[in-house]
Parts: sequence; C-alpha cells; structure tokens
Amino acid sequence: MQTPAWQQALAQGFSNLSSLLEYLQIDAPDLAQSIQASQQFSLRVPREFAALMRKGDLNDPLLRQVLPSHKELLTVAGFSTDPVGDRQAEHSPGLLHKYHGRILVITTGACAVHCRYCFRRHYPYAGSTATASQWQGILDYIQANPSIEEVILSGGDPLMISDKKLGEWLQQLQQLPQLKRLRFHTRLPVVLPQRITRELTGLLQACRLNTIMVIHTNHPAELSPSVAEALHKVAAAGVSLLNQSVLLKGVNDQCETLVTLSERLFEIGVMPYYLHLLDRVAGAAHFDLNESAIQNLQLQLLARLPGYLMPKMVREIADEPSKTPL
Ligand SMILES: *Cc1c(COP(=O)(O)O)cnc(C)c1O
Ligand code: SF4
Repeated sequence: MQTPAWQQALAQGFSNLSSLLEYLQIDAPDLAQSIQASQQFSLRVPREFAALMRKGDLNDPLLRQVLPSHKELLTVAGFSTDPVGDRQAEHSPGLLHKYHGRILVITTGACAVHCRYCFRRHYPYAGSTATASQWQGILDYIQANPSIEEVILSGGDPLMISDKKLGEWLQQLQQLPQLKRLRFHTRLPVVLPQRITRELTGLLQACRLNTIMVIHTNHPAELSPSVAEALHKVAAAGVSLLNQSVLLKGVNDQCETLVTLSERLFEIGVMPYYLHLLDRVAGAAHFDLNESAIQNLQLQLLARLPGYLMPKMVREIADEPSKTPL
C-alpha cells in the first residue's frame, strides 16, 4: 500500500537542530547545551510549521515553542515529571479517568511536533499507551461504568494513528449505546494540515457520536490559509471545533497576541475553549509567568474580548474534579 502524503510529509520534518536553524537562516553561536536538551526530549518540527516562522529571528513565537533550550536542563523547585497527577489517574495502560462522565485515552506517544513545554514530555509512554491489546480492556471499562458518555482520544496525538485503525476504533465505540460524544485532542491539523484526509473526514461524517475536535494553537501566526482550509473540511463533516492554548512566556503572553488569536480562530470557525496556565513540568520553568502578570493579562483580555471569544483560563490541579478556573 502507498504511504499517505501526510506520513511522507511527517518523515521529511526537521529532527536536527542545525538543519532547522540553517533553514531559518539563524546563526546560533553555541548549540552544545541546546543539543543536550534535545537529547532528553528530541526536536521535531514539520516543514509546514517551520515555513510559518520568521527567517533570521531566534525569538519567533513559533520557533520558541519547539527550540530546545539550555534552560530545560535547570532543576527548578516545584517543577516535576508528573505535574498533573496523571500516573495516579491511570486506570490501566493508556486509560485516564479523572472527571465525571468522560475518559481520556492515550492512544499513542507520538506527535508530529515536539512542544518544549509539553506536560507529558516525561510521560512513560512505553508502558502507558492503549495498544491494540489494551483496546478491548477500554471497551470493557466503559461498559462497566455506565456514567461514561464521552471518550477523549488523546496522546501524544491521536491523529498520528492511521485512518484505517481510527476507523476500526470508531466502529467499536459507536456500538456502545451509552456513548454520546467523541472528542479528539490534536495538534495535527495545525502543524500538518495534510493530515485532514478525505478518508478521515469521511469517518467523522459517518460517525453517529457527536464529535468534537479540540485543536491546540498558541499564536495566531500558526493559523495559515492551509490550516483554515483543513479545518473547514473538518467542520463540513459536522464536527464542532474548539481550541486550547497554553499561556507561554515569550510566545503569547501579550494581550494583543491573545486577542488576535481568538479573533482569527473565530474567523476560521473555531471557538476558544481553554487557556491553560503552564503545568509545572520539569524543563519548562522558563515559560512560566508570575501570578500578578497572569491576573493582569486576564483583566486586559476581559476588557477587550466579547464574552464568547474569551478562553476559560484554567489550571490543572491533581485530584480536583475538573480543571480549576482562575
Ligand atoms: C483535561 C482532561 C479531560 C477533559 O476535561 P474537560 O474539562 O472536559 O475538557 C478529561 N480527562 C482528563 C484525564 C483530562 O486531563
Ligand atoms: S502536540 Fe501536544 S502532546 Fe504533543 S508535544 Fe505538543 S503539547 Fe505535547
């Protein structure tokens, strides 16, 4: 069988720091420590995403999200490898049940892009993904818990999985009468819009469940015309589109940036959902903002945006019954 175009594009992405910087025409004097940081959590950037970065600018907000930094090597008090208590909430490999009525399935550890601030950057995916053999266990768990009405396919990135495999899973999930909603948490439509194949939109269209796709964008420059086109196809398949962002110092911590992000999302048919405060994961402390800066930003945003374009600002606290509003 022929490799789908999106998988070919994925394989051609940047995984080497010097080639990425060369492509961006950036002369970085000393890369030794950045390279060391990328040995802990490798560099991965699709060409489509790199193409949206400004040339010659080490401070480009898209580049900052993916560029390994020597600051990741610092140990900072309060920043740990499992900041949101995922290991405790893990019912069986790849199945997280934290909140009422919905379970989250870690379908794969793979992503098309590696975001340096990722709260799962230390997640032991090897033993904690829902591989084929665990899938039956997940279906059994849902049936044993009638309160579950929604399944969230997450990861990693669930759209790293082939259309064929997704089709099989959707088929099985749809047969459980208790399920009403199916949700995808994915960054692929943003960093690799070719992922939205005809097969995929066909599967979504045919699915009996109310389907939601929560994309992940942090900066308006990520929303290129091809991203908009891909999302338009998803919406045309009857899927509701939401966005979640992470508040990141040096990326999107200016009121103007977040206002433009919300407006641009709405233009292309996506509603702002969450603006997550950074999870305190080891290696990401340099993206953190202090409490007063966060509160100021919230007040500024409230004063600028119509209510429906204001993302909910939340923090994830282990053992709470939901994300915690600011
Ligand atoms: C964030 C999260 C969800 C989804 O929460 P919503 O508030 O419904 O978006 C579900 N399960 C787990 C384990 C989560 O971390
Ligand atoms: S796409 Fe999501 S899961 Fe993957 S590295 Fe980025 S933040 Fe983490």
